Amino acid sequence: MKKTIKNARIYTCDDKEPWAEAIAFEHDRITFVGAGIDAPVGDIEFDAGGRTIMPGFIDSHNHPGMVSQSSWHITLPWVDNVEDLLGFVKDYAAKHPKEEIPFLYFEYYPTTLFDEKGPTKELLDAAVSDRPCLCQDFGEHLHWVNSKMLECMGVDRNTPDPVPGLEMFVRDGSGEPTGWIKEFAWVHFADKLFENIKWEAPMKMTPELMEEFFVFTKENGITALADGILEGEEQLIAMSELDRQGKLNLYYDGIVRFWSYDDLPEKIAELRRYQEKYTSRHIKLNMMKLFLDGTNEAGNSALLEPLAGDSAGMNFGEIKMDTEELTKCFVLCNREGVDLQIHMVGDRAFRVGCDAVEAAQQIAFEEGTPWTIQPIFAHCELVDPADFKRPAELGITINWTCHWAGGYFGTQAISILGAERWHRMYRVMEFIESGALVAFSSDVTTLYELRRRANPLFGIQISHTRIDPEFPLDSTICPGGVRTPEGQQIPLDYLFKGYTLNGARQMHWDKLMGSLEVGKLAIMNILSENPFETDPMKVKDIRIDAVVFEGELIHGTI
Ligand SMILES: [Zn+2]
Repeated sequence: MKKTIKNARIYTCDDKEPWAEAIAFEHDRITFVGAGIDAPVGDIEFDAGGRTIMPGFIDSHNHPGMVSQSSWHITLPWVDNVEDLLGFVKDYAAKHPKEEIPFLYFEYYPTTLFDEKGPTKELLDAAVSDRPCLCQDFGEHLHWVNSKMLECMGVDRNTPDPVPGLEMFVRDGSGEPTGWIKEFAWVHFADKLFENIKWEAPMKMTPELMEEFFVFTKENGITALADGILEGEEQLIAMSELDRQGKLNLYYDGIVRFWSYDDLPEKIAELRRYQEKYTSRHIKLNMMKLFLDGTNEAGNSALLEPLAGDSAGMNFGEIKMDTEELTKCFVLCNREGVDLQIHMVGDRAFRVGCDAVEAAQQIAFEEGTPWTIQPIFAHCELVDPADFKRPAELGITINWTCHWAGGYFGTQAISILGAERWHRMYRVMEFIESGALVAFSSDVTTLYELRRRANPLFGIQISHTRIDPEFPLDSTICPGGVRTPEGQQIPLDYLFKGYTLNGARQMHWDKLMGSLEVGKLAIMNILSENPFETDPMKVKDIRIDAVVFEGELIHGTI
């Protein structure tokens, strides 16, 4: 059955023919894109009423597993002082006794409430001491816990840190954990915690638990996504089941995390197992994930110059691997034909990443092994100007989270990096102008964040304007509330390409999707307004009127 949509303004994301008026498709494939008068007569014809049609969005770094597992978290009100925060926590605990909620997990506390020593367990004990309690910071990489939580996890001065310096328990002079935790060090002890309190958080990955995530992606026109961390095999089982029920409605590119060169072979073997069991039309797995450093806000990103305020000039942040080890990882991944996605925030991490790709390509060349893999550098918040052109030269894909480009992380990193470095972060245009492939994402990790920040149009607006409508920056620091430096507003046409075609390229799916061209899958969104003619501050309010996925209308009406 042939379907034709006429009277549309179609932004195809295909450079050869960026605009069209009509599109036709048969079964799941596009058979025509072009002028309205030339369009073939379809068995079913739709009139788009002059509305805009674009390819389905591709979110190239998201966390379906973590988001689904966060549904039981308790949302904290936004406060600017510790007393109000503790008042809320204490009150909440009083209203919901331990028998009802045996473990209290709050999100988020403003990271700026505390200095570099972080909050303490004693402070939180004053609000809740009868059961484990955790508060996650706004940047999502820091956790503040009470004494009961440390006790139930069995964590004390003798417990080694999972990844010293990066994934760790902050300690006082005697080695005693203070109650402040960097990254997800506590998760390594979660089983013990649940065993001790004889309760398990509703985190078991079931189709029911994950369903809300995929309702969101469907309604927001997200038709493909790359994972940032796979939360175990259960996630794949649940997603495969949702796919069977017709509730996945997207293409999924999975990922397996590893920690070092030593555990990489074993983790690639795990990936192979998943590939064999779960690869389907909509699900593939072909990426490994490494966290190379931490975050600027937590003071553990890897920097070329010492942290501001470090008078001894010895603290350059933290890095998980040196160039040599990372080079070996790239060589192995290339031999195995699996992509490598790296979390990197600081300028030293970025340089080590580029140096490792360069060295690995040289080794591959000398060995006569073709270089076929896609290195993906996620975040790249602070980059030395000498390195801006290297991703284009080395074929590295940059993954940028669009909704961070305004004031989402506030100004807290100024105290860590100093003003000079802070004002030259987030320079995505440098990569775009040098010709690197830049793909866009939402990188949300909780349900709360998904609902508020993962709509691609919301992120597109922020990277286009450098103004966050929810978290405006102080205009004494950034004139007009526009995130510095100047000239980093990304043009809309690139933002749409980065959220469609470039995402498809990152995932090696560009022959199938990412643009509206004859022969590709009929996957498209019908928008309520044309974003190119909309007030830049209102792009986020454009609605997705309809979503066509593989030739079928899966949401809304045309
Ligand atoms: Zn992520």
